[in-house]
Amino acid sequence: MKIRVLGAFGGEGLGHRPSAFLVNDRILIDGGNVTGALTIPQQLSIEHAIVSHAHLDHIAGLVYLTETLAFCEVGAAVTISSIDPVINTLRAGVFNNALWPDFSKIPHPDVPVVKYRTLVEDVEQRVGDLWVTPVPVSHTVPATGFIVHDGSSGVIYSGDTGPTEALWRTARGLRGLRAIILECAFPNRLGPLAQVAKHMTPALIQRELDKLPPDIPVWIFHVKPQFHEEVSEELARLESGRVSILEQDKTYFI
Ligand SMILES: [Zn+2]
Ligand SMILES: [Zn+2]
Repeated sequence: MKIRVLGAFGGEGLGHRPSAFLVNDRILIDGGNVTGALTIPQQLSIEHAIVSHAHLDHIAGLVYLTETLAFCEVGAAVTISSIDPVINTLRAGVFNNALWPDFSKIPHPDVPVVKYRTLVEDVEQRVGDLWVTPVPVSHTVPATGFIVHDGSSGVIYSGDTGPTEALWRTARGLRGLRAIILECAFPNRLGPLAQVAKHMTPALIQRELDKLPPDIPVWIFHVKPQFHEEVSEELARLESGRVSILEQDKTYFI
Protein backbone atom coordinates (compact mmCIF):
# COMPACT_ATOMS: atom_id res chain seq x y z
CA MET A 1 0.00 0.00 0.00
CA LYS A 2 1.23 3.42 -0.95
CA ILE A 3 0.27 6.34 1.31
CA ARG A 4 1.09 9.87 0.23
CA VAL A 5 0.75 12.58 2.87
CA LEU A 6 -1.05 15.50 1.21
CA GLY A 7 -1.62 17.33 4.46
CA ALA A 8 -0.13 16.38 7.82
CA PHE A 9 -1.57 19.07 10.08
CA GLY A 10 -4.70 19.89 12.08
CA GLY A 11 -5.01 23.31 10.49
CA GLU A 12 -3.48 25.52 7.86
CA GLY A 13 -0.30 27.58 8.06
CA LEU A 14 2.58 28.58 5.84
CA GLY A 15 3.76 25.20 4.50
CA HIS A 16 1.26 23.40 6.73
CA ARG A 17 -1.73 21.76 5.03
CA PRO A 18 -4.81 20.28 6.74
CA SER A 19 -5.11 16.51 7.01
CA ALA A 20 -5.36 14.38 3.88
CA PHE A 21 -3.80 11.13 2.70
CA LEU A 22 -3.83 9.60 -0.77
CA VAL A 23 -3.72 5.81 -0.92
CA ASN A 24 -2.58 4.06 -4.10
CA ASP A 25 -3.12 7.31 -6.06
CA ARG A 26 -6.89 6.80 -6.11
CA ILE A 27 -8.39 6.83 -2.62
CA LEU A 28 -8.34 9.78 -0.23
CA ILE A 29 -8.43 9.29 3.49
CA ASP A 30 -9.86 12.64 4.54
CA GLY A 31 -9.53 15.67 2.30
CA GLY A 32 -8.53 18.69 4.38
CA ASN A 33 -6.37 19.73 1.48
CA VAL A 34 -6.18 18.07 -1.90
CA THR A 35 -5.77 20.49 -4.76
CA GLY A 36 -2.86 22.38 -3.20
CA ALA A 37 -0.78 19.20 -3.08
CA LEU A 38 -1.51 17.51 -6.42
CA THR A 39 -1.27 18.26 -10.12
CA ILE A 40 -4.51 18.27 -12.09
CA PRO A 41 -3.86 14.82 -13.66
CA GLN A 42 -3.18 13.48 -10.15
CA GLN A 43 -6.46 15.00 -8.93
CA LEU A 44 -8.32 13.41 -11.83
CA SER A 45 -7.03 9.99 -10.76
CA ILE A 46 -8.92 10.21 -7.45
CA GLU A 47 -11.97 7.95 -7.43
CA HIS A 48 -12.90 7.72 -3.76
CA ALA A 49 -12.70 9.77 -0.57
CA ILE A 50 -13.34 8.16 2.80
CA VAL A 51 -14.10 10.86 5.35
CA SER A 52 -13.59 10.46 9.11
CA HIS A 53 -15.82 13.39 10.07
CA ALA A 54 -17.14 16.64 8.64
CA HIS A 55 -14.85 19.20 10.30
CA LEU A 56 -13.39 21.58 7.73
CA ASP A 57 -9.77 20.58 8.29
CA HIS A 58 -10.77 17.14 6.92
CA ILE A 59 -13.09 18.09 4.06
CA ALA A 60 -12.20 21.58 2.77
CA GLY A 61 -10.05 20.19 -0.04
CA LEU A 62 -12.97 18.15 -1.38
CA VAL A 63 -14.84 21.28 -2.45
CA TYR A 64 -12.00 22.42 -4.71
CA LEU A 65 -11.43 18.89 -5.96
CA THR A 66 -15.03 18.81 -7.17
CA GLU A 67 -14.37 21.90 -9.27
CA THR A 68 -11.33 20.27 -10.87
CA LEU A 69 -13.37 17.18 -11.69
CA ALA A 70 -16.32 19.22 -12.99
CA PHE A 71 -14.38 21.44 -15.34
CA CYS A 72 -11.50 19.29 -16.54
CA GLU A 73 -12.87 16.01 -17.77
CA VAL A 74 -16.25 14.70 -18.82
CA GLY A 75 -17.35 11.87 -16.56
CA ALA A 76 -14.79 12.40 -13.78
CA ALA A 77 -16.33 11.71 -10.36
CA VAL A 78 -15.43 11.08 -6.75
CA THR A 79 -17.43 8.85 -4.43
CA ILE A 80 -17.45 10.27 -0.89
CA SER A 81 -17.89 7.49 1.65
CA SER A 82 -18.55 7.90 5.35
CA ILE A 83 -21.01 7.12 8.11
CA ASP A 84 -24.54 8.46 7.76
CA PRO A 85 -24.27 11.62 9.94
CA VAL A 86 -21.15 12.77 8.11
CA ILE A 87 -22.75 12.27 4.69
CA ASN A 88 -25.80 14.19 5.91
CA THR A 89 -23.61 17.11 7.03
CA LEU A 90 -21.81 17.20 3.69
CA ARG A 91 -25.11 17.16 1.81
CA ALA A 92 -26.94 19.68 4.00
CA GLY A 93 -24.08 21.87 5.17
CA VAL A 94 -21.48 21.93 2.39
CA PHE A 95 -22.69 20.84 -1.06
CA ASN A 96 -26.03 22.54 -0.45
CA ASN A 97 -26.17 25.19 -3.20
CA ALA A 98 -25.56 27.85 -0.53
CA LEU A 99 -22.04 27.22 0.77
CA TRP A 100 -21.04 25.35 -2.40
CA PRO A 101 -22.86 23.94 -5.45
CA ASP A 102 -24.59 20.59 -5.09
CA PHE A 103 -22.15 18.60 -7.19
CA SER A 104 -24.22 15.47 -6.70
CA LYS A 105 -26.46 16.93 -9.43
CA ILE A 106 -23.76 18.58 -11.60
CA PRO A 107 -23.22 18.39 -14.52
CA HIS A 108 -26.28 16.11 -14.58
CA PRO A 109 -28.06 14.08 -11.85
CA ASP A 110 -27.39 10.90 -13.85
CA VAL A 111 -23.64 11.54 -14.17
CA PRO A 112 -22.69 13.72 -11.18
CA VAL A 113 -19.25 14.79 -10.03
CA VAL A 114 -19.99 13.74 -6.43
CA LYS A 115 -21.54 10.46 -5.43
CA TYR A 116 -22.27 9.65 -1.79
CA ARG A 117 -21.96 6.30 -0.15
CA THR A 118 -22.95 5.52 3.42
CA LEU A 119 -20.58 3.21 5.25
CA VAL A 120 -21.77 0.93 8.03
CA GLU A 121 -19.92 1.22 11.34
CA ASP A 122 -17.81 -1.75 12.42
CA VAL A 123 -18.28 -3.56 9.11
CA GLU A 124 -15.50 -4.20 6.61
CA GLN A 125 -16.52 -2.79 3.24
CA ARG A 126 -14.90 -2.66 -0.17
CA VAL A 127 -13.84 0.82 -1.30
CA GLY A 128 -11.98 0.76 -4.60
CA ASP A 129 -9.24 -1.84 -4.21
CA LEU A 130 -9.19 -1.55 -0.40
CA TRP A 131 -11.10 -2.98 2.52
CA VAL A 132 -12.28 -0.27 4.90
CA THR A 133 -13.76 -0.65 8.39
CA PRO A 134 -15.10 2.53 10.03
CA VAL A 135 -14.94 2.38 13.83
CA PRO A 136 -16.48 5.13 16.02
CA VAL A 137 -13.98 7.26 17.95
CA SER A 138 -14.29 9.95 20.64
CA HIS A 139 -14.66 13.39 19.06
CA THR A 140 -17.02 16.38 19.40
CA VAL A 141 -19.03 15.41 16.30
CA PRO A 142 -19.88 12.00 14.81
CA ALA A 143 -16.52 10.59 13.75
CA THR A 144 -14.82 7.33 12.97
CA GLY A 145 -11.33 6.08 12.55
CA PHE A 146 -10.68 3.59 9.78
CA ILE A 147 -8.98 0.26 9.48
CA VAL A 148 -7.71 0.18 5.91
CA HIS A 149 -6.47 -3.08 4.41
CA ASP A 150 -5.39 -4.17 0.94
CA GLY A 151 -5.57 -7.89 1.64
CA SER A 152 -1.95 -8.26 2.68
CA SER A 153 -1.12 -5.15 4.70
CA GLY A 154 -3.18 -2.75 6.75
CA VAL A 155 -3.07 0.57 8.56
CA ILE A 156 -5.16 2.08 11.33
CA TYR A 157 -6.17 5.73 10.90
CA SER A 158 -7.54 7.38 14.03
CA GLY A 159 -9.13 10.46 12.47
CA ASP A 160 -9.70 13.06 15.20
CA THR A 161 -10.15 11.56 18.61
CA GLY A 162 -9.43 11.87 22.28
CA PRO A 163 -8.61 8.73 24.25
CA THR A 164 -10.62 5.90 22.72
CA GLU A 165 -11.20 2.17 22.99
CA ALA A 166 -13.19 0.53 20.20
CA LEU A 167 -10.72 1.29 17.41
CA TRP A 168 -7.84 -0.36 19.26
CA ARG A 169 -10.01 -3.29 20.30
CA THR A 170 -11.13 -3.87 16.71
CA ALA A 171 -7.54 -3.65 15.48
CA ARG A 172 -6.18 -6.26 17.88
CA GLY A 173 -5.02 -9.31 16.00
CA LEU A 174 -5.38 -7.59 12.63
CA ARG A 175 -3.34 -9.44 10.07
CA GLY A 176 -0.58 -7.50 8.33
CA LEU A 177 -0.91 -4.35 10.45
CA ARG A 178 2.00 -2.10 9.48
CA ALA A 179 1.32 1.30 11.06
CA ILE A 180 -1.02 3.31 13.26
CA ILE A 181 -1.71 6.85 12.04
CA LEU A 182 -2.67 8.70 15.21
CA GLU A 183 -3.72 12.25 15.77
CA CYS A 184 -2.10 14.70 18.18
CA ALA A 185 -3.39 18.28 18.21
CA PHE A 186 -2.14 20.16 21.26
CA PRO A 187 0.89 20.41 23.59
CA ASN A 188 0.60 19.05 27.13
CA ARG A 189 -0.05 22.48 28.67
CA LEU A 190 -3.33 22.61 26.73
CA GLY A 191 -4.53 19.29 28.18
CA PRO A 192 -7.81 20.81 29.45
CA LEU A 193 -8.57 22.16 25.97
CA ALA A 194 -7.71 18.79 24.43
CA GLN A 195 -10.18 17.18 26.83
CA VAL A 196 -13.00 19.53 25.80
CA ALA A 197 -12.18 19.46 22.08
CA LYS A 198 -11.57 15.69 22.21
CA HIS A 199 -8.06 15.60 20.84
CA MET A 200 -4.75 14.08 21.91
CA THR A 201 -1.70 15.60 23.58
CA PRO A 202 1.67 13.81 23.88
CA ALA A 203 0.83 12.93 27.51
CA LEU A 204 -2.47 11.37 26.42
CA ILE A 205 -0.67 9.46 23.67
CA GLN A 206 1.74 8.09 26.28
CA ARG A 207 -1.27 6.54 28.03
CA GLU A 208 -2.91 5.50 24.76
CA LEU A 209 0.18 3.50 23.73
CA ASP A 210 -0.64 0.79 26.28
CA LYS A 211 -3.96 0.17 24.50
CA LEU A 212 -2.49 0.07 21.00
CA PRO A 213 -1.43 -3.13 19.28
CA PRO A 214 2.17 -3.62 20.47
CA ASP A 215 5.33 -3.14 18.39
CA ILE A 216 3.58 -1.33 15.54
CA PRO A 217 5.01 2.06 14.47
CA VAL A 218 2.85 5.02 15.48
CA TRP A 219 2.83 7.88 12.97
CA ILE A 220 1.53 11.19 14.29
CA PHE A 221 -0.47 13.68 12.23
CA HIS A 222 -2.86 16.59 12.91
CA VAL A 223 -0.60 18.74 15.07
CA LYS A 224 -1.94 22.30 15.04
CA PRO A 225 0.62 24.34 13.05
CA GLN A 226 1.14 26.95 15.78
CA PHE A 227 2.16 24.24 18.27
CA HIS A 228 4.25 22.11 15.94
CA GLU A 229 7.65 22.75 17.53
CA GLU A 230 6.38 22.36 21.08
CA VAL A 231 4.46 19.15 20.33
CA SER A 232 7.42 17.71 18.40
CA GLU A 233 9.68 18.19 21.42
CA GLU A 234 7.15 16.61 23.77
CA LEU A 235 6.62 13.64 21.46
CA ALA A 236 10.40 13.15 21.19
CA ARG A 237 10.53 12.78 24.98
CA LEU A 238 8.01 9.90 25.05
CA GLU A 239 9.53 6.71 26.40
CA SER A 240 8.33 4.64 23.48
CA GLY A 241 10.70 4.60 20.55
CA ARG A 242 7.93 3.85 18.10
CA VAL A 243 6.32 7.30 17.79
CA SER A 244 7.27 9.64 14.93
CA ILE A 245 5.61 12.54 13.15
CA LEU A 246 4.47 12.01 9.56
CA GLU A 247 6.18 14.16 6.96
CA GLN A 248 3.95 16.14 4.64
CA ASP A 249 4.44 15.39 0.91
CA LYS A 250 6.30 12.16 1.71
CA THR A 251 5.06 8.83 0.35
CA TYR A 252 5.11 5.86 2.70
CA PHE A 253 5.08 2.29 1.45
CA ILE A 254 3.73 -0.36 3.82
ZN1 LIG B 1 -9.18 17.86 12.62
ZN1 LIG C 1 -12.28 17.34 14.17
